[in-house]
Amino acid sequence: MTAGPSRRTVLLTAALATAAAPLAAVPARAAARTPKVLVIGLDGALLGRIQAAATPNLDALMAGGVTAPSRIYAEPLAPTMSGPGWSTIITGVWPDKHLVKDNAFTGNAFAKYPDFLTRIETAKPALSTYAVASWSPVTTTIFSAAVDSRVSTPSAEYDTGTTSRAVAELRDGNRDAVFVHLDNIDHAGHGYGAASSQYTAAIQTADAQVGQIVAAVAARPTYASEDWLIMVTTDHGHTDAGGHGGNSDPERQTFLIAKGSAITAGTTRHDIKMPDVAASALAHLGIAADPSWGLDGRPLQTPVADAFDTLRPQLTTRVDETGIGAAVIGFTHTPPAGWSVENTAMGTGGMTEWRGWSFTTDEFWTAAERGQQRESNVRARNVFAVADGDEWVDKSSSGTFDSTLVGPAWPVTGGSTAVLRYTTLYRQESPQKGEVLVSWNGATPVSVKTYTADTSSRVEAITLRVPAGATSARVRFRYTGGNNWFWTVDGVSLTAS
Ligand SMILES: [Zn+2]
Repeated sequence: MTAGPSRRTVLLTAALATAAAPLAAVPARAAARTPKVLVIGLDGALLGRIQAAATPNLDALMAGGVTAPSRIYAEPLAPTMSGPGWSTIITGVWPDKHLVKDNAFTGNAFAKYPDFLTRIETAKPALSTYAVASWSPVTTTIFSAAVDSRVSTPSAEYDTGTTSRAVAELRDGNRDAVFVHLDNIDHAGHGYGAASSQYTAAIQTADAQVGQIVAAVAARPTYASEDWLIMVTTDHGHTDAGGHGGNSDPERQTFLIAKGSAITAGTTRHDIKMPDVAASALAHLGIAADPSWGLDGRPLQTPVADAFDTLRPQLTTRVDETGIGAAVIGFTHTPPAGWSVENTAMGTGGMTEWRGWSFTTDEFWTAAERGQQRESNVRARNVFAVADGDEWVDKSSSGTFDSTLVGPAWPVTGGSTAVLRYTTLYRQESPQKGEVLVSWNGATPVSVKTYTADTSSRVEAITLRVPAGATSARVRFRYTGGNNWFWTVDGVSLTAS
């Protein structure tokens, strides 16, 4: 229940520190280098298997850049298949927007949510774009005809041909944005399983191909005057036995490895998700995302601070849950500075992990029980808050689930308007209810939003009229229910509108 420093205090302190600092000499400005982007997609690749294999080229990219493991959706949002996977990475939106549900692409919304190379061509037509793929739907269907060059490698040439084409373009051409899709890791996964030596061998072959492609970039005669952002990613994982499409953790695993001038070498991040590939590519080329585009991705170059994410080092392993791996991190009931959880009306007993609001991760929470739409929480990032009556009652309990997550006292300006934003997923069963309330200067909280029906993953934006004279606001998220479903909250902010 400790109150952290208010945002106003922090800002004031920062302002004073800035004012007190001596004027720094203005550094000589380096000539602006030409931004360029390379994305390499390794179909069906598991990060853990890459890290366990001899992969000097991918290791070098990880050592020189950021490694970001994450997870994708499962049904009913979309299966863990290549169609929805590559569409998510390439358009920068989740499947509930691009509407690709399988590898047939029927009913896709690419006209509204085009691929990032098409966005580049629209914003900066002078830039040169190129895509080459071993799996042809990438270059025939996901990337549009607006891309300067789309090449589907003949199947007889497969990844060898894709690599040689990419190398030639990168070394001898002058493309600004390049996408390369290599397929053979997925092929080995289907044939032999992700636990097989053949899968590891395919990873090592792909690593050598990545090495050739990256070397082609470095061999460019103009390389010294260029600023390359190189990203390596995958569309889905694989089971040990081989296969994907389902909701198991190995099938949902993905990752992004990114190396570039704005990225700190040798770092790991947990706040990056797959639509960020497209958003990061656009940002690197100086193309600002228009809000009307509805991108779910955000540029990895500009991380967004989130109070819940600061809890990651405090997360602990399971207590009562048996479905979650004993080593999987984790959860905590201890809120971040300035936040609190009120459990005075909360029933007794139940699963320790889920008694009242918890702070957890996708990996940990979805393992509690798969196939109940926890995998649809795609827009939450890193650590998020969850109230889960369904899981709480899985151990002997009494009373109702009645818990309130309370935010810090945020500064507001009386008589103005403010916007409350948060990312959420709400699954309903009566008599469950979710309620968002705001307390102005410590007065009785007033309800600003109620959840009594299923609400898909989204970023809410609620405009609030700040009462005259109000100087602070505290936001509260109250879940009441029992053996019902769940509510997630993440990325909460209150800003002047
Ligand atoms: Zn596959």
